Amino acid sequence: MKRIFLGIAVFAVLFSVGLFLSPKEDTHIRAVKRSQIALGTVIEIQVRHPDREKADEAISQAFAEIRRVEAQFTRQDSQSPIGRINRSETTSFSISPEIYDLMKQSEAFWRRTSGAFDASLGAVIDLWGFSRGQGAVPAASQLVKALKHSGWHHVRLEEGYLVRRTAAVQFDFGAIAKGYAVDRAVAVLNRYGMADALVNAGGEIRSTGGTWLIGIAHPRKKGEMLRRLNLQNMAVATSGDYEQYFEKNGKRYHHILDPRTGWPAEGCQSVTVLAADDTTADALATGLFVLGAEKAMRLVQGTPGVHALVVDRNGGIHISPGFKAYLTD
Ligand code: ADP
Ligand code: MG
Repeated sequence: MKRIFLGIAVFAVLFSVGLFLSPKEDTHIRAVKRSQIALGTVIEIQVRHPDREKADEAISQAFAEIRRVEAQFTRQDSQSPIGRINRSETTSFSISPEIYDLMKQSEAFWRRTSGAFDASLGAVIDLWGFSRGQGAVPAASQLVKALKHSGWHHVRLEEGYLVRRTAAVQFDFGAIAKGYAVDRAVAVLNRYGMADALVNAGGEIRSTGGTWLIGIAHPRKKGEMLRRLNLQNMAVATSGDYEQYFEKNGKRYHHILDPRTGWPAEGCQSVTVLAADDTTADALATGLFVLGAEKAMRLVQGTPGVHALVVDRNGGIHISPGFKAYLTD
């Protein structure tokens, strides 16, 4: 979403992006709740702790950590490490352990999803212009050209070191950075002794401690919930075609692109993934969305600790056996 629109769009984002939530039990400790805008969305942190001042300090530090992660991985800022790599004419770079690590994980998710999750798809993503808030359908010939510069077979990673085949290979961590930032924020809250907390980055969520009630947004009925689930010491992420899109000649073009074609993926309306960490949930929600319901469910069956609820293109709901245990209704 275009940054300057964010102030106005706060409410729209809360009700359109993904999940509604509330602490489950009405404990005597009231949750301290704060939100800020970062990573192109609304970040909400809730903490239940008897010492309000300590909770406040921990939340401030968690927000600072989220902004630090954003400064590392954003591609909008030409001075961020990823912004610099993308704009550079060079092909080899020294990279920090943190960037190496998230790149390595992204490469692994690319393999695991047979290329459906692709954080090296930047050249294709650029052509659509969703992040500029003014999307337009690119020429097919441009897409074909950009596709030739995406995929991790064009990238070599070694500890602290990155080589790309040409300078046209562009990175975009938009489908994993929010989940990663949430994980980092939870680590900070833990370090400050906040053992009962929830971090929500526009629908990518992780909780610790007691049970938190999470609502999965209906992909076609705005403001309505599809299902509700209990989250305890886990992460959940949703990718949907209703979050960022434009319409042209009655057709919807949304921001989750199929790396095989360069066009918006057509197999699903939304995918919600449960996993132990939010980096995994975020990346797989995007990857499974691209794979489509059938392949997505097959991948989930073979991945221990990962559960999914998929709404296919016709509105059909597919729920993996492990996911059912978390549903409240
Ligand atoms: P959201 O950001 O709305 O939660 P996602 O996590 O699915 O949704 O991320 C979508 C963003 O990721 C896009 O805006 C784009 O920057 C990037 N992206 C689009 N298609 C892919 C893909 N197939 N693999 C990896 N990243 C993608
Ligand atoms: Mg994602």
